[in-house]
Amino acid sequence: MRVVNLSSGSDGNLTYLESQGSRILIDAGLSCRGIETRLSLLGVSGTQIDAILITHEHSDHIRGVDVFASKFKTKIYAHRDGWDALSRKLQRISNTQKFPFTSAPFQINDLTITSFKVPHDSACCVGFSIESENKRISICTDLGTISDQILSNIYGSQLVYLEANHDIEMLKNNINYSASLKHRILSSRGHLSNIASAQAIEKLFKNGTKRVVLSHLSKENNTPGLAYETVKTILEARGIVIGEDFFVDVASTLPGKIYKIT
Ligand SMILES: [Zn+2]
Ligand SMILES: [Zn+2]
Repeated sequence: MRVVNLSSGSDGNLTYLESQGSRILIDAGLSCRGIETRLSLLGVSGTQIDAILITHEHSDHIRGVDVFASKFKTKIYAHRDGWDALSRKLQRISNTQKFPFTSAPFQINDLTITSFKVPHDSACCVGFSIESENKRISICTDLGTISDQILSNIYGSQLVYLEANHDIEMLKNNINYSASLKHRILSSRGHLSNIASAQAIEKLFKNGTKRVVLSHLSKENNTPGLAYETVKTILEARGIVIGEDFFVDVASTLPGKIYKIT
């Protein structure tokens, strides 16, 4: 498998994954043109995309889905419980393009995909664990909280895109955010802080994961350096040496590293 995040955060989320027999997107929160431009950097065209997996119906995850999927006749996979909310926003795609899934694993060509619900405040929000040739990557953003039960779905992944949305103090001190918005983000159905992300990463490390990409960083309440240093400090206090025992990268609004999972 090859996987690359092409945009992360509230301006738009877009991840591309390819295997021997599949090319898929996970979320498509840029405009259709934006998606095509970023795919072209990889030499991939819209017609080559087999499917888009949707985590949830917030616009930073689906902004370009309607136009892209109606242009390229792409199949759209989303959890059964999220389709009512999604269908209201995706009015150009036909019913034959809609593929509802449940918590049971499903196949797209050679990929085995397992979804799991996460508590984020949307109609239905899921994370994904995607497997091919006994290798697994997981995408787990827009969380709020991350329980051991959620983590159990991603243990053993070679690579995890994990939310590290905000620094709690930056968020609390942000004079541009209303009290209610701060409350929403900090709640168990909002977004995951750098500290909570680090605590989850320690558990991932103990269960075999060697690399995470900190994802869905807030532009206003976090910086890549702060997210990285917070995670590094917490893990190193537990004796986990970053760059030796474990690897941490940070996703941004620009295309990130391409990972080959072999
Ligand atoms: Zn969301
Ligand atoms: Zn989001």
